[in-house]
Amino acid sequence: MSDQLNERLVKVLGDRTAKALEKGLGLRTVGDLMRHYPRRYAERGELTQFASLNEGELVTVVADVSKVSVRPLRNRKGTMLEVILTDGTGFLSLTFFNQAWRERDLAPGRRGLFAGRVTLFRGKRQLTHPDYEMLDGSILDSGDPLAEQERVAQFAGALLPVYAATAKLPSWRIGQCVRTILDNLEEVADPLPASIVERYGYPSLTEALRSIHSPKTLFEAKQARERLIFEEAFTLQALLAERRSKLRSLVATPRLVRSGGLLEAFDAKLPFDLTRGQREVSAEIEVDLCQTHPMHRLLQGEVGSGKTVVALRAMLAVIDAGGQCALLAPTEVLAQQHFRSITEMLGDLAMKGMIGSATEATKVVLLTGSANAAQRRSALLDIASGEAGIAIGTHALLGDKVGFAELGLVVIDEQHRFGVEQRDVLRAKASLPPHLLVMTATPIPRTVAMTIFGDLDISTLREMPKGRSPIASHVIPELEKPAFLERAWQRIVEEVNAGRQDYIVTPRIGGTENETEDMEESADDLADELDDAPDAVRTKAKAILDVAPELIAGPLSGVRVEILHGRLPSDVKDQVMRDFSAGLIDVLIATTVIEVGVDVANATAMVILDADRFGVSQLHQLRGRVGRGIHPGLCLLVTDSAEGSSARDRLDAVAATQDGFELSRVDLEQRREGDVLGRAQSGASSGLRLLRVVRDEKLIEIARDEAAGIVEGVGIDQFPALAAAVAELAAMERSDYLAKV
Ligand code: ADP
Ligand code: MG
Repeated sequence: MSDQLNERLVKVLGDRTAKALEKGLGLRTVGDLMRHYPRRYAERGELTQFASLNEGELVTVVADVSKVSVRPLRNRKGTMLEVILTDGTGFLSLTFFNQAWRERDLAPGRRGLFAGRVTLFRGKRQLTHPDYEMLDGSILDSGDPLAEQERVAQFAGALLPVYAATAKLPSWRIGQCVRTILDNLEEVADPLPASIVERYGYPSLTEALRSIHSPKTLFEAKQARERLIFEEAFTLQALLAERRSKLRSLVATPRLVRSGGLLEAFDAKLPFDLTRGQREVSAEIEVDLCQTHPMHRLLQGEVGSGKTVVALRAMLAVIDAGGQCALLAPTEVLAQQHFRSITEMLGDLAMKGMIGSATEATKVVLLTGSANAAQRRSALLDIASGEAGIAIGTHALLGDKVGFAELGLVVIDEQHRFGVEQRDVLRAKASLPPHLLVMTATPIPRTVAMTIFGDLDISTLREMPKGRSPIASHVIPELEKPAFLERAWQRIVEEVNAGRQDYIVTPRIGGTENETEDMEESADDLADELDDAPDAVRTKAKAILDVAPELIAGPLSGVRVEILHGRLPSDVKDQVMRDFSAGLIDVLIATTVIEVGVDVANATAMVILDADRFGVSQLHQLRGRVGRGIHPGLCLLVTDSAEGSSARDRLDAVAATQDGFELSRVDLEQRREGDVLGRAQSGASSGLRLLRVVRDEKLIEIARDEAAGIVEGVGIDQFPALAAAVAELAAMERSDYLAKV
């Protein structure tokens, strides 16, 4: 087996070309170039007679070389090779720059096939840098006319790869480089084990690389592609299976659920019955917790599906078994909200050391970046002494100064901002690795979860607790139907008059010229994505600091309005949230800071301005803030996007269904993979070039099973090429992570 794929391009293609490939496309090795797959294939032009050659058309001609000349270029360095072709009726010229060596092929009297686009130069028709293939002999002894016809048909019908290219490196140049490599390609080591290649009837890696770059038929290209997609899925799943197996080999303190403790006392005072899903997931977690290796579980469920209750029950079980728990939230608002709702749910069970506390009680502490020195010291002390059963916070909990007496369980809410490495930091905070529960409110299809969180076991809460009210959603096209927007503000006032509360959401804070800086963190991703669409003419998104005064002075003049956004000091944010929860504010005008977790049952309506600036899942998440109580919810998606635009289609999809899983599919199908896997992980740098998690669901499932079979069976070390591919992928992930911090 050759390890040609690791060879540097400079050795094969020379300094200049290799530099251009590296600079323009980031390709350094032969393998990089071989994995720079064509985007599509073009066919050569039809066989055309000289008399009917039209400017601009792609054509193929059969002709004889009548004259060849090479001369130096006038204005710059280099040469031009000119070839005059004739078919007996007329002439056509070919030009090649800096390719004087072709003179040898193109000797006068030889006959050949030539393909390219017809251009006019000084009134003469010509082909620049045509593809060609010389036919043996000359017109005088062309031999078998049938054989020639066949070759013509084959040549004219050939599929030409079209590559992602740059100004300096056009597709045909890349194609030349690829051909140079393919001409010398030996049998290369295949990351896919032979047994799998055989079982699925796949071509070998070497065959697949040949086929994808120079297929004889589209079918051949398709087969190669499928195999390469499978290889990507398989390598990724092998990496994840390795991680899972490493995690299983870790030792953790088992936390056996016992009776007569906090958990039992909590269950007894819970004002509602757990849903069946909550019970099932709780049981799964309890089984995990009493293992001698750490739990690594992802809990996913719709907004409001009751994940927090499940997580709290797990925490209580761990406290009962002598451990402490850390709950990490992505923002301070959320950490505070968790602190409030958890202390509230626990009631006297959270009042250890205070008068009126229950005997089993524990202590819940909050540690965020904005805590003052005294609060901080006392929280740290409670955490270090073991007094605090539950510590809630943001990444501040990851700080060096935070030492737990006996960390038994880490719960991470809204995972996607915590990378594998951050989990490792937390894990290092205990003598033995703690159990880990990751909660995500973004419902994602199974395969996506398998791909992104493939080293975690997955639990899903599908049903919503009883008593949830439906949310009616409508799109309001503000340009086409301005009256609808006026009506929307009336609705808000009506809701307020009926004793309810409402949200108005804007994508931007305002008060600065720099729009990107101005977006709340999560809205920002989509802004980037829209920037990528050159045809989308963008006006500035609505800003809370502009919108709020207008609304307060106008349609909402009679109601109590407050604003909430990420640039407010956290004590102000906290106060506003508290006042809104307490019903002291009627309408909260906010940015996406309210996206996750905010839970005010009396809130019924939400107006989202410039709704097209948000992602589908994000809109779904946002609207989950209303209809959380007994009153039905209403969500109005205001947009200036035109009917039939893809932005408008996305909003229509959100309005049409309340199924978060369905919407996350819509989202995934529309976004590029990179947005799903984290921006830095898209494209070549992630090793995921062809794989699409939604489209390739079945393949991923198969790959996952096969990879697990190998990792848990003989082990990947038996397959050096696979082990190398897995190590490379892991290294890419690490460097991506480093690039992100
Ligand atoms: P999530 O974290 O999944 O968004 P929460 O755990 O915050 O959901 O629950 C949302 C709301 O539903 C909370 O007010 C919670 O008390 C309530 N809730 C949770 N489980 C149930 C249940 N089984 N029955 C009724 N209400 C529930
Ligand atoms: Mg929650």
